[in-house]
Amino acid sequence: MKAAAFEYLRAASCDEAVAALAGEDTAVLAGGQSLVPLLNMRLARPRLVVDINRLADLSYLRRDNGNVVIGALTRHRAAETSAMVATDLPLLAAALRYVGHVSTRNRGTVGGSLAHADPSAELPTVAVALDASIRVQGSHGVRDIAAPDFFVGPHETALAPGELLVSVSFPVVPGAVSVQELPFRGCDLVVVAAVAVEDGICAQARIAVGGAGPTPIRASAVEEALIGRPVTDAVIAAAVAEFTCDPPDSLHAPASYRREMASVLTRRAIGTAVHT
Ligand SMILES: Cc1cc2nc3c(=O)[nH]c(=O)nc-3n(C[C@H](O)[C@H](O)[C@H](O)COP(=O)(O)OP(=O)(O)OC[C@H]3O[C@@H](n4cnc5c(N)ncnc54)[C@H](O)[C@@H]3O)c2cc1C
Repeated sequence: MKAAAFEYLRAASCDEAVAALAGEDTAVLAGGQSLVPLLNMRLARPRLVVDINRLADLSYLRRDNGNVVIGALTRHRAAETSAMVATDLPLLAAALRYVGHVSTRNRGTVGGSLAHADPSAELPTVAVALDASIRVQGSHGVRDIAAPDFFVGPHETALAPGELLVSVSFPVVPGAVSVQELPFRGCDLVVVAAVAVEDGICAQARIAVGGAGPTPIRASAVEEALIGRPVTDAVIAAAVAEFTCDPPDSLHAPASYRREMASVLTRRAIGTAVHT
């Protein structure tokens, strides 16, 4: 199928993009890896598509005060292959390798993946695990939204009409990392974990599960049950038993199966991280 007709604007500045987005029925075009299929299948029929690909000042990776800040238009592949991300944000580097194929990641952008808000997508799950802060710009100026508040539902975010996602700031979190996925159609699950162990004791844990609910879920109870304890298999199993989720039923994977698999992957993610 071909997209329905739409108007097209190639924005020359963030201000121009924001002004254009303030109108009715608009969509941002970044890497186009999700938007273009949606347009072609006519699942999205915007009046105006605002292309931000020329906004070079939205494409950057930099350190800032204990955080790694990534511009919205930074391609997945640039983040995945960045030495700074490998050192300071290994969880993001590991998760990016699971996003589509290299050709998808060459075009797809960090901001696009967050704004698309697929509940089983890797980047939103990492953002929730690490308590990232997402900066958006609108006609009012900029505001920062904590990742758990940014993701509101499947493909639904706290972006107000007319706002552009401009950057995301990830705190640098110590620890070995693991990403575990169950990627078959209809039961996409992803678990990301960063676990720091000192003298056999868990000093810090960041764990989130994507695809087990309408938005990625921070496994806070599991983290609390790990921190300060020796990371034995028994402790990990007891901690994972604290995880609760309420996934939807589907033709391909009933809720009970997803719930069970979310626990299996969480146990595997923690175990892999602590034995790295
Ligand atoms: C073959 C294939 C495999 C894939 N596999 C995966 C996978 O395994 N995991 C995964 O997570 N994704 C996967 N995807 C989806 C895709 O990689 C991402 O959703 C996509 O890259 C999002 O980034 P983008 O820059 O392409 O966004 P676009 O497609 O341009 O936009 C996506 C949505 O976000 C909005 N948007 C984009 N940028 C902004 C912004 N700065 N501010 C506000 N709104 C914005 C757009 O309006 C649109 O609604 C796959 C895609 C393909 C084609």
